[in-house]
Amino acid sequence: MAHGGLRSFLNAIRRSLPGEEGDRTMLETVLGRIWASPRIAADHRAICAAGGRFSGTASEARAREWLAARLAVAAGAPVEREAIAYRGWTRGPARVTGADGRDWPAQALGRSPATGEGGLTAPLLDLGRGTPERIAAAADTVRGAIVLVRHEFMVGTGHVHRRAKYEAARDAGAAGFLIACHEPGGLPVTGSAGDGGPGNIPCAGISLEAGAALAAQSGQAITLRTAGEFRDAAAENLFATIPGQGPELVVLSAHYDGHDLAESAIDNATGLACALAVAEAMRDLVPGLARGLQVALFSIEEWALLGSRAHLRRIGEAECARRVLNVNLDSLAGADGLTALTSGVPGMDRFLAAALAPAGLSVGTYAPFMGNSDHANYLRARIPALRLCCGFDQPQSNMRFLLTPADTADKVHPHQLKTAAAVAAALVLAACAAPAAPVPRLEAATAERIAGPL
Ligand SMILES: [Zn+2]
Repeated sequence: MAHGGLRSFLNAIRRSLPGEEGDRTMLETVLGRIWASPRIAADHRAICAAGGRFSGTASEARAREWLAARLAVAAGAPVEREAIAYRGWTRGPARVTGADGRDWPAQALGRSPATGEGGLTAPLLDLGRGTPERIAAAADTVRGAIVLVRHEFMVGTGHVHRRAKYEAARDAGAAGFLIACHEPGGLPVTGSAGDGGPGNIPCAGISLEAGAALAAQSGQAITLRTAGEFRDAAAENLFATIPGQGPELVVLSAHYDGHDLAESAIDNATGLACALAVAEAMRDLVPGLARGLQVALFSIEEWALLGSRAHLRRIGEAECARRVLNVNLDSLAGADGLTALTSGVPGMDRFLAAALAPAGLSVGTYAPFMGNSDHANYLRARIPALRLCCGFDQPQSNMRFLLTPADTADKVHPHQLKTAAAVAAALVLAACAAPAAPVPRLEAATAERIAGPL
């Protein structure tokens, strides 16, 4: 944003408000409402109380109905439900039996093929961290083996995603795939892996302790048992749109699905609670701003971002072009310090600094693309997008509990929720109020280079 642009943008958010809130600026009003309201902590607890929200479960349905009702109130707007057909999967029990006959609990990764009762028996191959390079270097020894790799702290520089390891092992001819948690405490890790189609292999997460015990048996035969059923299913995305003065929209998104081994409290009840708080604090102001606010709550995000992809494909290019910015909230509290994953979008750093400075706030930024949440699909649709998250490069923070049974409500402090909501609100307010689109729309080639096709 050029200097003149920054000034006019500051003027826009410093415009005084009439009425009972006197001459406070819009920014002061919005941030004051967020800090003064007890709703954000109550909303967070209510979302956690619905359970882990694994797509296709009663827990997901409970959360969806609660969110639909709460979003309508918070945004003061009708809630639109968007049905998304997908190939559902119900997780059954899983376990690993070592060469010594000892059983270890396991969590089938999302959409793992079932092994059948007898299980899959094959030699174990411990490939350490399990980077694709390491798996490639192991060459023929991978063929027919159950490959053991390690999960990594997820929001940090140099993180190699579980899916990259799984796909490398599968494509190298592995018979099965195990991923051990990076965190002690008997916590099996979860997540999704393949799409359940032909060629995929049974895969499961295990605890750090199970991984250590099994690693000592590398080369010996172990047995992996996974169960799960595929069936046609439908998920629903939820939207509330508060119109602004013009046709353009700023999209504030958060996914509401999670995993069924805990409460998915950090990932992503925190993002949901913050999205609701921002909508509630801004709903009467947005109609006077240059562009509107759409709150988008996605499901089947944990399934390789299926919900947002289906949405953006469905609405088509003209609707995508109305959306000038996506602020995606995923895992915002549980650790101090927020980072914007900017994917190197041209102009995003300047916008962030300009939007947050008037509130005395700032965030870290990380430019390399991480396709780990719904912002990736907005980028693919050429919409400038960022993901906010907390605890980036802080492996000792509570962010280490993502995708484990320890992702529970006690890990999240209300002050972290409020700080995150304040940052999100400052960004959304700036983007809605700015005289021109806050960040240039992505060229098709740029979008493709950053994030690939939609
Ligand atoms: Zn998430």
